[in-house]
Amino acid sequence: MKLTSATIEALALHGGSPVRATLLPYGRQAITDADIQAVVEVLRSDWLTTGPKVSEFEEAFAERVGSKHAVSFSSGTAALHAAAFGAGLQSGDEAITTPMTFCATANSVIYQGAKPVFADICPDTLNIDPEQIADNINSRTRAILAVDYAGHPADLQAILQLAEQHGLIVIEDASHALGAEYRGHRVGSISDLTVFSFHPVKHLTTGEGGMVTTERGELAERLRRFRNHGIGSDARQRQAAGHWHYEMVLLGFNYRLSDISCALGLSQLHCLKANLARRREIARQYSAVLDATPGVIPPVVRTEVNPAWHLYPVRLDLEKLTADRAEIFHALRAENIGVNVHYIPVHRHPFYRDRFGYKGGEYPVAEKAYEQLISLPMFHGMSDQDVEDVIRALLKVLGHFVE
Ligand SMILES: *Cc1c(COP(=O)(O)O)cnc(C)c1O
Repeated sequence: MKLTSATIEALALHGGSPVRATLLPYGRQAITDADIQAVVEVLRSDWLTTGPKVSEFEEAFAERVGSKHAVSFSSGTAALHAAAFGAGLQSGDEAITTPMTFCATANSVIYQGAKPVFADICPDTLNIDPEQIADNINSRTRAILAVDYAGHPADLQAILQLAEQHGLIVIEDASHALGAEYRGHRVGSISDLTVFSFHPVKHLTTGEGGMVTTERGELAERLRRFRNHGIGSDARQRQAAGHWHYEMVLLGFNYRLSDISCALGLSQLHCLKANLARRREIARQYSAVLDATPGVIPPVVRTEVNPAWHLYPVRLDLEKLTADRAEIFHALRAENIGVNVHYIPVHRHPFYRDRFGYKGGEYPVAEKAYEQLISLPMFHGMSDQDVEDVIRALLKVLGHFVE
C-alpha cells in the first residue's frame, strides 16, 4: 500500500485524531457469569484451599491437554520452579533455554542453583534453534527448557531427539501454548514436563496460577510434595484418615493453588475451545492483510503446527521504514492501540549481565528480532471492530513511515 501525501491522515502522535477513542489492551481476560457463579459456590463451601476443586481442575486439565497427570501451582513461575526441581536441576548443572522469553523461564533454573545457558533462536518462528542447543550441550547439561513462543510450539521433535541422545530432561514452557498442537499431538502431552500459566493475559485464567503436566506418576508425586512444603500428605487427606502425623521429606514451598482459583479455572476450561477458535480467526484476519503490507513481517507458522496464538508478534521490516520500532510503537499507542514488545532478550537484563557477564551480541538472531518486534492486541474478547481498528491503525502508521 502506497498512500499519496494528500490521503495520509495526520498521526495521533503528531496531533491528529486517534483511530480509537479508548486504549485497546494487548491482552485481557474474559470472565463469564458461570465463572463468577463457580467462585461464589466455593466461597460458600467448606474448602477454600486444598479441597475438592483442586483435583477436579487438575483432572479436567489433564484430559484437555491429553496428559496423564496435571499438578496445579500458585503461578506459572512456581510451576516452572517445580519443573526445574522435578528435572533434578541442582548446583553444577546447566539447562539450555531461549533468550526470547519472559525472564521467569530462565530464572527457574537459577532458583535451583543451576545455570541457564542460552541458545539462539530460529529466524522464522523465534523459537529456540535445535542446532544452537546441540552446540551448547556438555557434560554439565541436564535439561532443555524450550518455550512455545507466542503459542507456536518449539521444534519439539528435534529437541526430544537431542534429549534422548544426551540423556536430558525436556521442560516445555507452554505458558503461551494452551490448546496448541504439534504434529497432531496436543501441547501438554509431548515433553517430560510441560508448564502452563493462568495469568489473566493467557488463554485461561485463575487470577494467578499455573500447571505442570507429565506422563510420569512418580514425577507428579514429587511435584505435589514440592508445592506443599515437601510434605507427603495434605491437610484434607489427614482429616479423612483421622490422624495428625505427617512427614516432611524434602525442602518444598507453599505453591498451592486455592479451591477458589481452581473453581475459576475449571469453569474457564469450558470456554477454551471457543477462545482458541476466536484467536485463530483474529490471526487469520491480521495475516490476510499483513501478508500484503510492505514494512511489516507477520508471524510465520510452520506446516506441522497448529498454534494457540497467545501473542501476535509482527516484525518491522526496518530497511523499508523511515522510523525505528520505538517511534512506530509510540505512534500506535497514540492511536490507542495497546501494542507491546515480547521480549527484551533475557540476557540483556541487568541481573543477567551482572551475574553471567553478557555484553550484548551473544545471540544475534534474538537481538535483531528484538529490535523489530511489536505485539499487536490479541485476546479472545476482541470484537470485529477492535480487529479492524488495529489493522487500520497499523496501515495508517506504516503508510506514514514506509519509504
Ligand atoms: C506468563 C509467563 C510466565 C510466568 O507465568 P506467571 O503465571 O505470570 O508466573 C512464564 N513464562 C512465560 C513464557 C510466560 O509468558
